[in-house]
Amino acid sequence: MKTIGMIGGMSWESTQSYYRLINQGVKARLGGLHSARICLYSVDFAPIAQLQAEERWEEAGAMLADAARAVESAGAQGLLIATNTMHKVADQVCAAVSIPLLHIADATADRLLTDGVDKVALLGTRFTMEQAFYRQRLEQQGINVIIPNERQRDEVHRIIYDELCQGRIETPSRERYQQIIAELGFNGAEAVILGCTEIGLLLEPHHSALPLYDTAAIHAEAAVAWALSP
Ligand code: GLU
Repeated sequence: MKTIGMIGGMSWESTQSYYRLINQGVKARLGGLHSARICLYSVDFAPIAQLQAEERWEEAGAMLADAARAVESAGAQGLLIATNTMHKVADQVCAAVSIPLLHIADATADRLLTDGVDKVALLGTRFTMEQAFYRQRLEQQGINVIIPNERQRDEVHRIIYDELCQGRIETPSRERYQQIIAELGFNGAEAVILGCTEIGLLLEPHHSALPLYDTAAIHAEAAVAWALSP
């Protein structure tokens, strides 16, 4: 089994999900007492979130590059950045190490293509929904991506940082997400990417009128498949 280098803590609420899902995935395949080989570098999210808000991506990328070097020297053979948003600096992080990055948008695109989803809605932080680094990666695979309107994007973004990343799961916020998903379905979305690794803590498949693609779960599964591949 290969060793996964995971850069987590963005937020730690979803890093917990990754840790559990990756270990469950390895146990499901290998059985018994097997568990995943993981080097986890968990950052302090507050300064990173501040840099995001100020669009100081290069400085945030330098912090993640340090983390990537640390897990590589600890023996990691592949890298997982356990958040969608910070894939904004994926190239900078990759350049710091010689191990491969398992990109969250590639894992998600593979799943959508396998399922034949043509037009998908993307929910995530404002950075993920609005900027090219994530959407373009999906669109390059021929997937049509739609995003909520500006007011809805504000709400989706605010709920992520003010509630989900702080461990608050609130029913009114779930209902708001449900309304937004219903409207995106009305606009032609066949499915929804939960393009923020905490949204799966708020929305389960039975909460949604459309099929949900939870990027934390998809990314964790891709990591398990990679770690156990020959
Ligand atoms: N975990 C979230 C994501 O997947 C948001 C936190 C962050 O900005 O990294 O984008």
